[in-house]
Amino acid sequence: MTPSRIRARLGMWNLAVFGLVLLVTITAAALSIARVSDLAIDRELQLGAARAATRMAHAWAESDRHERDDERRDEGHDRAPEEDDHDRLVHFAEASPDQFVIAARGGAPAVRIDGRAMPPGLPDARALASAQADGAAVRSSGTVAGARVRMLTVPVRIGGRVAGAVQIVRSLTAPERAVWRSVLVLVITGVAGLVLAAAASAFLAGRAMRPIAAALARQQRFLADASHELRTPVTVLRARADAMLREGEGLQPSVKDELRRLSADADELSLLLGDLLDLARLEAGVESLSIEPVAVGDAAEEMVADLAPMALERGVALVAKAEPAFARAHLGRVRQVLRALIDNALKHTPPGGHVTVSVSRESQHAVLRVADDGEGIAPEHLPQVFDRFFRADEARTRGAGGGGAGLGLAIAAELVHQMRGTIQVESVRGRGTTFTVRLPR
Ligand code: ADP
Repeated sequence: MTPSRIRARLGMWNLAVFGLVLLVTITAAALSIARVSDLAIDRELQLGAARAATRMAHAWAESDRHERDDERRDEGHDRAPEEDDHDRLVHFAEASPDQFVIAARGGAPAVRIDGRAMPPGLPDARALASAQADGAAVRSSGTVAGARVRMLTVPVRIGGRVAGAVQIVRSLTAPERAVWRSVLVLVITGVAGLVLAAAASAFLAGRAMRPIAAALARQQRFLADASHELRTPVTVLRARADAMLREGEGLQPSVKDELRRLSADADELSLLLGDLLDLARLEAGVESLSIEPVAVGDAAEEMVADLAPMALERGVALVAKAEPAFARAHLGRVRQVLRALIDNALKHTPPGGHVTVSVSRESQHAVLRVADDGEGIAPEHLPQVFDRFFRADEARTRGAGGGGAGLGLAIAAELVHQMRGTIQVESVRGRGTTFTVRLPR
């Protein structure tokens, strides 16, 4: 993983954690705001109901006394008691646009005690009856003129006896709106915080990565320099061994064998150094690939033709099944990837086996497949095949000659990523292996 990828991932994780914490905090805050508002409404209803009940108890006691006096004084005269009652109730008005106070006495029709018209949906007659019957407060809710309301109905006692009930009705529109407004403010602040956090985490991730990136770059440069510097002496070593073999007519056969082995080892070492240099350069981003349309179908056919002698030598049938397809890639690097995959397939397929290189098109990608019916890869090794220096069977690949250092697939995967493609492997032990490379079209 390159420093810029690590940095992006670090930033994303930071942001994800912060976002999650923010979400939990906002949800908790919104819930507690709603709860506090709920409790405040209940408290207001309780206080209002207690106050109205006390006032109504006085009013009704007074009105009863007047009624008794009037009856005694005006015996035989006509009178209009309802008007009197109403007049005596008016001064208890609790006028407020989102609150009603209603009083009822026995089965008599309830009146709004500020004397204005009762809105449809009010009163809650069942609560009024129940509060008077049971002598206990009743909490209820409903809808009045399209607005949700909460109600508290309490009995009114005169001299310990239940004489009637008052009902306080409060519209929930304003408190609900206040809660929503607070939540909105929280969300807006949260989003703003998230944007700031994104900027901060990108900045901090960048700063945190700087020394790591520098150390990585130093290491890659060292690797590139070391492999580059080592290639010359290794080439010289091989040339000397070859020269001694050519010129040393009288050498003993055992010495000649040693020289031949020396030359082969130097050859292998030189290839390994080449791979190391390649990988170090790729990872350091020294060379940026020039991306252009590449006829990958043709590239596959050419590569199959190039490697036909090697397939023949190994007794493996190598065929190409390529549709014409273009990819946005780098021709040289596509050839390198194909060579690595086909080379591996030929190495790991016994004589009589088959290796098929196919190219097809998907909506977004050109798809290159290298499939063999060779030895396959054990499931536990599959996740590691693209790791550097990974070899499924070290002893055998080494001894068999031509076995690499386990860098071929690591380089191929890095090249495919640099061309913004993907590489996958599927394999069944004893049945064969298929490598699939997808490159953007
Ligand atoms: P090497 O240089 O050893 O070939 P690679 O990176 O190319 O290294 O491959 C890593 C390992 O993956 C190989 O050693 C081999 O065990 C396994 N492998 C790769 N291709 C195949 C294949 N087509 N069939 C079976 N095993 C494979």
